[in-house]
Amino acid sequence: MGYIKGLKCRECDREYPVDPIYVCEFCFGPLEVVYDYEKIRQSLTRDKIQSRPHNLWRYRELLPIDGEPFDAFHTGFTPLIKADNLAKLLGIRELYIKDDSVSHPTLSFKDRVVAVALAKAREFNFDTVACASTGNLAHAVSAQGAKAGFKRFIFIPASLEYSKIIASLAYEPNLIAVDGNYDEVNRLCSEVANKYHWAFVNINIRPFYAEGSKTHGFEIVEQLGWRTPDNVVVPCASGSLITKVWKSFKEMKEIGLIEKVNTKVFAAQATGCSPIVAAIKQGIDVIKPVKPNTIAKSLAIGNPADGFYATQVIKESKGFGEDVSDQEIIDAIKLLAKTEGIFTETAGGVTLASAIKLIKAGYIKKDSLTVLCITGNGLKTQEALHGHTVKPYYIKPNLSFFEETLKEINKAAS
Ligand SMILES: *Cc1c(COP(=O)(O)O)cnc(C)c1O
Ligand SMILES: [Zn+2]
Repeated sequence: MGYIKGLKCRECDREYPVDPIYVCEFCFGPLEVVYDYEKIRQSLTRDKIQSRPHNLWRYRELLPIDGEPFDAFHTGFTPLIKADNLAKLLGIRELYIKDDSVSHPTLSFKDRVVAVALAKAREFNFDTVACASTGNLAHAVSAQGAKAGFKRFIFIPASLEYSKIIASLAYEPNLIAVDGNYDEVNRLCSEVANKYHWAFVNINIRPFYAEGSKTHGFEIVEQLGWRTPDNVVVPCASGSLITKVWKSFKEMKEIGLIEKVNTKVFAAQATGCSPIVAAIKQGIDVIKPVKPNTIAKSLAIGNPADGFYATQVIKESKGFGEDVSDQEIIDAIKLLAKTEGIFTETAGGVTLASAIKLIKAGYIKKDSLTVLCITGNGLKTQEALHGHTVKPYYIKPNLSFFEETLKEINKAAS
């Protein structure tokens, strides 16, 4: 019943069968899934999608699985929230938050890619799944892998946020904390993947895994009433999500679900790790690797695998990119919480802070419809706000103490 034709090299177009492979033997280009769009066009309609349950499998013809999904029936279809308070403050007509901070089961958009990767790992008959992670992927593979009954090897930089390490350990995977940054972890994992017959979700089955990110974009279109936004701001680590959001819009047009794609795609990164945005600002296609130094650890990839393709998408869509300081990230996390009641992790702070700069500079027009991709939950990076929040009032359990405090509060407010 599958709609995949095979794999194809993004660089030289050489074709490959559907196997757990990810790199072209001839030119070392990355492999990508190829679909039979004509067949999908004939079978997938808006009505059919809308008749299905609210999870990411409602778009399954456009995902790289052959059989029926076996799990993740509560992943995807996160809220698209109209952010009127924030829109008013920023002086922009229409603003929406695509809120993957409430993704099931691990509160980040990585649940989408892992759902698809594990479905594919099972089709390929792997019994062990693994990943190289900046935090959220570790959490998602640990959790979903536990439920699906896989053995799990999770590789992370040892310096990750404490809350993300604990969150992963709760599911009792084999957690390997490496003394090095993500790029070093990733290099080690490529060696491990060559030697052991495991499904490394973001290495040897990356072409399939990455397709899961498209569902973030499909949902934006469906939830906007089958149209694309004027602007979308996407946080970038490896640069995969941003390319897949763009691909999702183009595919929906390709199979006739929408008439046109008129969207500018904007990249958001932390200044302490902004190789993609730096290339965009300099107008070059070459990604210069950097050593990450930012509180946005989930985005701290100094040598992004899809960086070049990310710059191509931004150019093709006439978008741009912006980078923001740690202080701007913290301020944006607090602003989103204060205005819209949404607590996002540092990556979401990067998205909002970058969007604010893009609006001020006129790249995002005030009279337009913009979607911000909020990709993770603030409970995962609480230490980022340590010392940056308002303080609690400490009192004794006694009404008079409370009323003293209330007087102070009222005085401060007037
Ligand atoms: C992984 C991640 C991203 C970006 O991922 P890409 O590697 O660019 O696809 C964005 N936000 C969060 C919270 C993430 O964990
Ligand atoms: Zn090739």
